[in-house]
Amino acid sequence: MGESVFFFGEGRAEGDPKRRDVLGGKGAGLAEMTSLALPVPPGFTIGTGVCNAYLRTRSTPDPVRGEVAAALARLERSTAARLGDAAAPLLVSVRSGSRVSMPGMMDTILDLGLNDAVAEGLAGKTSAHLAFDAYRRFVSMHATIALGLPREPFDRALDQARARVAAARGLDGTRWNTQELKRMVPDSDLPAQELVALVATFKAIVKKGTGSDFPSDPQVQLWQAIEAVFRSWENHRAVVYRRMHDIPDDWGTACNVQAMVFGNLGPNSATGVAFTRDPSTGERRLYGEWLPEAQGEDVVAGIRTPLPLRAGARGGARPDESLEARMPEAYRELDRIAATLERHFRDVQDLEFTIEDGKLFMLQCRTAKRTARAAVRIAVDMAREGVISRDEAVLRVDPAGLEQLLRPTLDPQAPKKLLARGLGASPGAASGHAVFTSEEAEQRAARGTPVILVRAETSPEDIRGIDAARGVLTARGGMTSHGAVVARGMGKPCVAGVSAIAVSYESQTMTIAVQDQTGRAGEPITLHTGDVITLDGASGCVYEGAVPTVSAELSGDLGELMAWADVGRTLRVRANADTALDARVARAFGAEGIGLCRTEHMFFEEKRLRALREAILADDARGRVKALATLLELQREDFVAVLREMGALPVAIRLLDLPLSELLPTEPQPLQALARSLGMQASKVAQRSRELHEKNPATGHRGARLAVTFPALYAMQVRAILEAAATLREEGLDVQPEMVIPRAMAGAELDRVRALIEGVAGEVARAARVPVAFSVGARIELPRAALLAGHLAPGVDFFSFGTDELTEATMGLSRDDAGRFLPAYLEAAILPRDPFVSIDRDGVGVLVTTATEHGRTAHPGLKLGVSGAHGGDPASIDFFQRLGFDYVSSSPLRVPGARLAAAQAALRARGREGGHGSV
Ligand code: ADP
Ligand code: MG
Repeated sequence: MGESVFFFGEGRAEGDPKRRDVLGGKGAGLAEMTSLALPVPPGFTIGTGVCNAYLRTRSTPDPVRGEVAAALARLERSTAARLGDAAAPLLVSVRSGSRVSMPGMMDTILDLGLNDAVAEGLAGKTSAHLAFDAYRRFVSMHATIALGLPREPFDRALDQARARVAAARGLDGTRWNTQELKRMVPDSDLPAQELVALVATFKAIVKKGTGSDFPSDPQVQLWQAIEAVFRSWENHRAVVYRRMHDIPDDWGTACNVQAMVFGNLGPNSATGVAFTRDPSTGERRLYGEWLPEAQGEDVVAGIRTPLPLRAGARGGARPDESLEARMPEAYRELDRIAATLERHFRDVQDLEFTIEDGKLFMLQCRTAKRTARAAVRIAVDMAREGVISRDEAVLRVDPAGLEQLLRPTLDPQAPKKLLARGLGASPGAASGHAVFTSEEAEQRAARGTPVILVRAETSPEDIRGIDAARGVLTARGGMTSHGAVVARGMGKPCVAGVSAIAVSYESQTMTIAVQDQTGRAGEPITLHTGDVITLDGASGCVYEGAVPTVSAELSGDLGELMAWADVGRTLRVRANADTALDARVARAFGAEGIGLCRTEHMFFEEKRLRALREAILADDARGRVKALATLLELQREDFVAVLREMGALPVAIRLLDLPLSELLPTEPQPLQALARSLGMQASKVAQRSRELHEKNPATGHRGARLAVTFPALYAMQVRAILEAAATLREEGLDVQPEMVIPRAMAGAELDRVRALIEGVAGEVARAARVPVAFSVGARIELPRAALLAGHLAPGVDFFSFGTDELTEATMGLSRDDAGRFLPAYLEAAILPRDPFVSIDRDGVGVLVTTATEHGRTAHPGLKLGVSGAHGGDPASIDFFQRLGFDYVSSSPLRVPGARLAAAQAALRARGREGGHGSV
């Protein structure tokens, strides 16, 4: 056995199927299936190292050529045929296949080894139709893939041949397009003499395009094909695919040379694909498609509509067109092999097969891709069947997919017209009337009309519009733009960053630049207020009209999987929830507390906003106290509702973090209106507004700074929280309020706020009949707070990391605007990931680690939690698990995914410690 080339056949494989890095996934699968004594056409795999060597030097090293010659000789002995031998012709496929499956991204050449003499020989042994059908396929594939010629001339010549056949039947084929011609004259209808002529035409095209004859020496063909497969590692679509999936460029592809089997040999031959279970529902039965009298990729290429494998399968085909009905023996064999392979690999397999004159051959197996729903069902079923352990089932499901499962989705059967596509920023489906302002959204929603809020981009003021809308559509902004984050938090579908849409607030319209399939610009479409659209927040698609939805199935399987996940989990999972309603959803999804209850939105409601404005504008203490007393009443009710919902679970309430400057209008007209309604002089309101005005509210007068300059406001909130807690304690509820001080940046600052809180607590305790337990924490969202964590920790009970803000402050990026350039940074791999989706371990992560270490040293027993987008992101959750955090907090819909991700992180950690054999 050589070092680079690995033979498989006759029930044995030289390559180690575990070495996917060397054999590639396809080669490993072929080796494995061969070892299992399954019917696999023999062949050999040239390892990925050869690809890398070839790409460096543009030549294949001589020792490898020697190994290939030896492997080919063995293949010839094993098949009793020889490459280029007209009397006993061997044809091979030359197939790419990298370590992980990159479906359709690289190249494969079929039917190699044909020249005029071999074709005649093959025709004598099989049929002229088969020989010349294979020959014309080979010439065009080899010419386009190995010789680099364009496809069109070959396709055109094939169309003309079909048109001639149609004409011979008295039909005018010249008026049809390619698809129609293929339907009218399928490959099996092309007579042998037409195929012979086609080969000649194809060769002429090659001669014209390259200046040389098509290579007739099969050895030359073989090497051209092998090297073309290596080069296909570098073709554009493969490179783009690798970028998208974080696949290293230096893995390279293996090359598999395999004896051909013919699915196009006649009516008793076929080709197809099969899944060992249904990849969209997870149902445990063979699922797949097949085509009689076809070769290779005809099934996926859409040349003919494939037929179902099983007689009872869903879809429009007649039961008697199933493989089960037409070739029952081959079907049973396939079913048996599918079961063998699934048991062997302990996961659902995606299989390629070909039936040559009634005999089944396996050509590929790989782990099947599946929908989120199927993933859950398959993992749970396989654990119940005893195929995998419960821990493995937990590790099998991608946590990111769960959120998608919990939302209503568009009915896949419904007809739909796609208008545009953007980022799927918050999953779920929603239909409604397009509106372009928050006011319009509120008005129409108040009348019971479903609306979709369409904005060029969203700002914090849109919160009420988003609240009123069924879904949100923005032309600009990324996954973590304001609108997307808010929508996700509220569990509303959102499509963001739809660059094809231009919103005009002036005309209250949106104009959509339309492209056809070839990318040519078409007539733009303009939609007005009230026009109905549908969003698919998972795929990022925007459709015309109302597309019906189907409600999400919270199946028992998911519940079961979550219970298994909770067994091994050590990290607690809380939810970000601002209202009692959010809190209820969060509990239903298994949240173990609230990690972030924001209070700002509580002030947007008419009555409260007015009281808050009065408090800010009051010039004497009396007026201020009165206004704050009104707010106290209202806030206490808010907190009673949220705390009651969570019972004995902890609720972290972030004290007010609202820039004061955003509370007063700046324009003359609204200023006057406000002054009138409050019975104040307009000039005074204007003056106060000027005083409070800030150039940069994001870094302005807010958070803990308010506690220092405007302690009465903070005292009111603290009192509202503690009085609410006291009320519920009296009822016997063991509530656990936690107060979070936002924008902390100095130890002395925290000491002041803490003193304020303790002061109020003392007063509340004296008045209450029961003691009220509470804790105080610092929100770590500024780099200074992280750097000085050792100084901040002694004064608080816990740290609540706000990594969204910490990312903004550390990287100098705004979540709402970064969408304009961040994609370029990701595309160019300057940043590995969107830092607002997954924590930037290299930068922001260092600050979090520092803060964690210093905080815990200065204050043993300090609790650590994180809330925000990262609290629901699996990769970030793994990071927080490694740091020994106490909890993560995500939006309610992401809680199940976070529980699963936390369980996976714990299982992996245990695996690292070596305590867990099976994971
Ligand atoms: P991809 O990675 O794009 O799926 P493959 O190498 O699997 O490419 O080959 C493309 C098609 O050709 C598949 O349908 C495969 O089953 C078929 N094929 C490959 N090798 C052979 C062979 N030796 N005999 C018959 N069909 C083959
Ligand atoms: Mg394949």
